[in-house]
Amino acid sequence: PTFRGLGVCEQLAEACDALGWKTPTAIQVDAVPVALKGHDIIGLAQTGSGKTATFALPILQALLDNPQPLFACVLSPTRELAIQIAEQFEALGSGIGLKCAVLVGGIDMMAQSVALAKRPHVVVGTPGRLVDHLTNTKGFSLRTIKYLVLDEADRLLNMDFEQEIDEILKVIPKERRTYLFSATMTTKVAKLQRACLKNPVKVEV
Ligand code: AMP
Repeated sequence: PTFRGLGVCEQLAEACDALGWKTPTAIQVDAVPVALKGHDIIGLAQTGSGKTATFALPILQALLDNPQPLFACVLSPTRELAIQIAEQFEALGSGIGLKCAVLVGGIDMMAQSVALAKRPHVVVGTPGRLVDHLTNTKGFSLRTIKYLVLDEADRLLNMDFEQEIDEILKVIPKERRTYLFSATMTTKVAKLQRACLKNPVKVEV
């Protein structure tokens, strides 16, 4: 299989080439074509499987068709993972002028507010800090978000982010695509899945 064969557009396939990615990984082969068709996805996959690009490529491809600020929101359990996710978006999106903001704790809120004022296409954050910005950063809202990603959902829930996730779900449009990735399917993940995904396709590697 090739990225082009999965339906990835030329611009993004070239970005994959430039990163030295010769072939798509198993989760990318199974999930990218389904996501490009417009389905919500539940991906059961570990770190190292290539799951980040699995959700980043369909989001970037949709963004190319409809370039707008605050297009996608990615929730991550930790700041380290959030930074890694943003780096992959930026690597894949460098040729298309992608702007990405990282909203995580332990870093000055003000610097992040300045990044939000630049109207990024993608925000990647931990739920707590994202809610802090929704409350405190003037002009920032999730009203225009078309894609929501819950990455490492089992860890998001183990870290007690349920209340913050609920607050985010209240202010994010219902008309959107949602991708949920988790290493394990637990009762709590299944509940979150029912609350946020519509007719999802499950992909397991
Ligand atoms: P992830 O599972 O998303 O954390 O990705 C693990 C690592 O695999 C990251 O460093 C990616 O840059 C890399 N990666 C993602 N997709 C591919 C691919 N198709 N071929 C080679 N490396 C990849």
